[in-house]
Amino acid sequence: MTINPSLRSVLLLLLAFAACKSVPYTNRKQLVLVSASEETALGQSAYTDALSKAKISGDAEATAMVKRVGARIAAVSERPDFNWEFNLLDDPQTVNAWCLPGGKVAVYSGILPIAGDEDGLAVVMGHEISHALARHGSERMSQGLLAQLGGVALSAAMATKPDATRQLAAQAYGAGATVGVLLPFSRAQESEADRIGLILMAKAGYEPGAAVDFWGRMAAAAGGKDSTPEFLRTHPADDKRIKAIQEQLPEARGYLKK
Ligand SMILES: [Zn+2]
Repeated sequence: MTINPSLRSVLLLLLAFAACKSVPYTNRKQLVLVSASEETALGQSAYTDALSKAKISGDAEATAMVKRVGARIAAVSERPDFNWEFNLLDDPQTVNAWCLPGGKVAVYSGILPIAGDEDGLAVVMGHEISHALARHGSERMSQGLLAQLGGVALSAAMATKPDATRQLAAQAYGAGATVGVLLPFSRAQESEADRIGLILMAKAGYEPGAAVDFWGRMAAAAGGKDSTPEFLRTHPADDKRIKAIQEQLPEARGYLKK
């Protein structure tokens, strides 16, 4: 079936209007063509896939810290519909972390030395959880869907090509390291996740200024190594980022309990 061009543009407009949402805290308008239930299903299936390829850490103390930080941030995230899960994965070579839609969070043990302490870990987890709250992965998938006018293609793809769709979702939602492909979020999405992450930290009772120290350590970790950590390939820790975070701190500190 061919769709005539003017009908096509009306359809696109209607679609865009129906799918236009705004991001919590920043109120940026975004186009999301993946429904909340599709997003949760994609997240769940990418999560099952990722965990089947990973080794859960046996370090009880570090695991307890990941679960404690996660629970504190989840408690202030205002997403009672999320079925939160927090995992520490035993993988000292992988400097990375992610949060899939629905609240499925993984931290690789390789990022712990750079996180340093509980506040540093809250920077990482607050940032990753913010990508999920702001629906950045679905936004990224939607841009591709809109380009092909395939609003129905997602559910069809899930039904006919589950493995390929799961991989695509893992890449779009930031857990692509486990399938060998890393697709960075845009610079604007990164900055937005920094901003929301700082707010979540403050609401959870962590000092958001820890983010400046964390990104400094991350930048230092980039030097003198043969390979750049995964997290840095998708999260440039440059002066621009650190300066932007410093400018975002006063807003976040407004959320600290007095
Ligand atoms: Zn990020």
